[in-house]
Parts: sequence; C-alpha cells; structure tokens
Amino acid sequence: MNSLGLNVLRRLRRFDWTGTDVSRLSKARRNIDGVVLHLRDFQDSHRIVEFFSPEEGRLSLMARGARASKKRFAGVLDQFSRLRAVVSPGRDLWSVYEVAPVQLRLNLRTCRESMNRATVLVEWTRILVPEEQAAPEFFRFFDHALTLLNGGELSRAVGVYPRLLDDSGMLPELLACAGCGREIVAGDRAGLMTGEGLACTRCSPRRDLLSSEAIKVIRGARCETAEVALEVERVLSLWLQNEVGQPLRTLSL
Ligand SMILES: [Zn+2]
Repeated sequence: MNSLGLNVLRRLRRFDWTGTDVSRLSKARRNIDGVVLHLRDFQDSHRIVEFFSPEEGRLSLMARGARASKKRFAGVLDQFSRLRAVVSPGRDLWSVYEVAPVQLRLNLRTCRESMNRATVLVEWTRILVPEEQAAPEFFRFFDHALTLLNGGELSRAVGVYPRLLDDSGMLPELLACAGCGREIVAGDRAGLMTGEGLACTRCSPRRDLLSSEAIKVIRGARCETAEVALEVERVLSLWLQNEVGQPLRTLSL
C-alpha cells in the first residue's frame, strides 16, 4: 500500500465504529508540546504537573520521581516553561516520562512584574480552557504572551487578553453603547457595563470610565504603556470574574 493509503487507514483507525476517538483511549506513549501551568508536590517523591497543550488542552500529568530528583526531568520542569513531553494517557492523571526544553523563559522568572502577569495569564487559562479539549488558538495567544513577557515586553503582552476572551466567546460588546446603542468612536471614554459591554458616558457612572487608550487596546490595538496595561488587565479581569461567576485570585493580589 502506498503511504497515502496508509495515512488514510491510520486516520480511520483513530475512530471505532461508534465514532469514539480510539487514540484518546489508547495508553500508548506520545509526544506533546505545551506549557507548564502549575506544579505541586505529590507524596514524597512525585509531582503533579498541570500542562497546557494546543492539541490536548489542559492535562494533569504525574511526574514520578520529579520531587525526589531534579535530574529526573533534567531540571526543566518549571512553571511557564514550554516543553516537549513524552506522555501517556491515564484514567485521571496522565503520566509524563521525559521532557525536553522548547523555551525555558528564565528571564520571565527574574522579574516580579512579569511573574505577576504570567500568573494572571495562567489563572485565565485554568478558567477558560477545559480539560482534555484542544484549544490551538487560545494556546497560540497564551504562549505568545509568555514569550513577550520573557522578552521584557510587559505592556504588549496585555494585548493578548482581549484575544483570549474573544477565543472563549466572552469579549464584551465594543462598538456601541450597551445602554442606548450610541456608537462609541475612537477617542471617546466609556464605562464597561457588567455582563453587557461598553457604555457611553451618559449611560455609565462617571467614576469608573475607561481611558480611550484602554478602549483601543480592548478593541485590538497594541498596548504601549504600563499604565494602560494595568488598566486593561484590571478591567478585563473584573469582566471575566463576572462572566464566569467565580472570584479571580489574581485580582486580590
Ligand atoms: Zn449610552
């Protein structure tokens, strides 16, 4: 059989006659690429790694021996690192056997502000990305933001927030006032009405208006200053908190 025929056969074999994706049930080892979201110790010698892969979504991986010996995983199993990992699926936890660095993001960890922003991005990801469900676009933006933070571009990384919300179907209404329908044009200030979207100055209480620069960033422009970055981060975190109905830990820091 030629290689094309073999590929088709392989693809067909992924699904059994009920349409179940058999490859997901298979315990076979495979290579995945992704980012470490979170690490915690497990028993005396293991660690549980929360990993985000574009193809598999969020996964909990059991890294046996990772706590007892740093060498076991070549010392690269760190939060925010992008790695390639050899894993196999399990009922609750997957297992990870080997990891290799793709981008370790060592600079990010030397700067407190970068760490804080990366922590916000991780919290958003844990809320917005379901377990074991592919999220390639979300991953692309998330990973890009971490790369920007690692390069010291803290403000620009904030430009990713509206894209994460958009990919999750949670971007506020941005063109017209959610109260009266009046168009909100460039240069206008506006409020953000909970659960609705931007609200013109007449429809929102004066004290919590967004700057026109912040509105531009939420609409997709580049974020250039630290002040606007903080404003956008705060207002979109509040927005997300309200959308999902659960408190964001990073908002109380
Ligand atoms: Zn209005």
